[in-house]
Amino acid sequence: MAIIIDGKGFAARVRAQVAEQVAALAGRGIVPGLAVVLVGEDPASQVYVRSKGKLTVEVGMRSFEHKLPADTAEAELLALVERLNADPAVNGILVQLPLPAHINADLVINAIDPAKDVDGFHISNVGLLGTGQKAMVPCTPLGCLMMLRDHLGSLSGLEAVVVGRSNIVGKPMAQLLLGDSCTVTVAHSRTRDLPAVCRRADILVAAVGRPEMVSGEWIKPGATVIDVGINRVERDGRSRLVGDVDFESAAKVAGAITPVPGGVGPMTIACLLANTLIATCRANGLAEPEGLTA
Ligand code: NDP
Repeated sequence: MAIIIDGKGFAARVRAQVAEQVAALAGRGIVPGLAVVLVGEDPASQVYVRSKGKLTVEVGMRSFEHKLPADTAEAELLALVERLNADPAVNGILVQLPLPAHINADLVINAIDPAKDVDGFHISNVGLLGTGQKAMVPCTPLGCLMMLRDHLGSLSGLEAVVVGRSNIVGKPMAQLLLGDSCTVTVAHSRTRDLPAVCRRADILVAAVGRPEMVSGEWIKPGATVIDVGINRVERDGRSRLVGDVDFESAAKVAGAITPVPGGVGPMTIACLLANTLIATCRANGLAEPEGLTA
């Protein structure tokens, strides 16, 4: 039976570390601020924004929430981003995705000051990460990397397979694993014989958005499995969350596995707070805390 990687517990430790650093900054009169912008009323996004705001305050940072109606004009959103870029109380800016269809998300993300881009989606940060330079690293893959390093120590030379090639998860995850000297394969919907590709993996990251797609038969015995998927399904007349990995069969074969919920999800928010702290340190010319970034 696989070891269950406790993302919830790990995330609490990361947040405690962030809170300690935030308290030290307070001694210098610095309070990190995170601005979250939500456009429209997507229920899942509302839940995320609420819990982000709560945890931001819990670690001692300032939380600024900007909730705009679904019909907000693109120019109005861009003007808000400009104001937040110029506001010295704001160290991190996150525009919650997805944005309504009439707004060009790339335009908005690339209008964020890269130094405040705590989601790490700005094209400058993507380029910096891809070339192995100091970047703001996307939170979900950063959280996955932290759990992998914590569980495995060095990742050097390991075979890693990332299923999914989105800009938010799959691609930056592959870059981070490459940065840690894994041999990386990125699989996607056109990959031939996906089960055979997955069976090569010492590290298997599933970021697909297909409930329980990856079964135990796809997993190399002893592999470390990171399940990024969050899928809401109806089971026995009840709504519940499942990952992209079939936990029951996978846990019989894997060496270690993240559960859903309680795995990658909590680490994502913890890493958002870590990124806000790091952005604050960089903005003030202070040394960055260790162990909180790639
Ligand atoms: P996207 O929909 O942007 O990307 C999904 C990827 O999976 C695509 O690259 C797609 O391939 C690939 N894919 C889809 N179907 C298959 C298939 N049958 N076989 C192989 N590959 C397939 O999703 P995201 O990356 O944004 O998110 C992935 C999952 O992670 C979702 O469940 C999401 O909810 C979750 N998530 C969780 C987070 C957390 O904090 N835990 C944060 C972000 C996301 P192609 O490119 O060829 O279409």
